[in-house]
Amino acid sequence: MPARPQVPTDQAAPTGQVPTTQRPSARTVARVFARDATCTFPGCSVPAFRCDLDHVVAPRPGDESGNGAHNLVALCRRHRVLRARDGWRPALLGDGTVRWTGPSGHTYERPAPRRGA
Ligand SMILES: [Zn+2]
Repeated sequence: MPARPQVPTDQAAPTGQVPTTQRPSARTVARVFARDATCTFPGCSVPAFRCDLDHVVAPRPGDESGNGAHNLVALCRRHRVLRARDGWRPALLGDGTVRWTGPSGHTYERPAPRRGA
């Protein structure tokens, strides 16, 4: 029996993509979008549904608990780049406030959006 042809490499998943097992569930994504309402970077008003989710703390490989809503914040593309480039660090507080620490060490808080306001 002839061997089956191999799948061409150009059909493989693009490099740099997060493996499927590292992605949060659709339910978690919806929860984070509802909680954050907008990009969580201070002063940014890009709607959450147009943002990506970014980990507060990078999860260890295979650690699914790192993909929970408690470890994810909505962040627009521009601010994801800024975070990665300049070293901004988010911390998610219990009430949904996101505290950002900038490269200079200053902190800025993005309060949790008010419900029904
Ligand atoms: Zn933003």
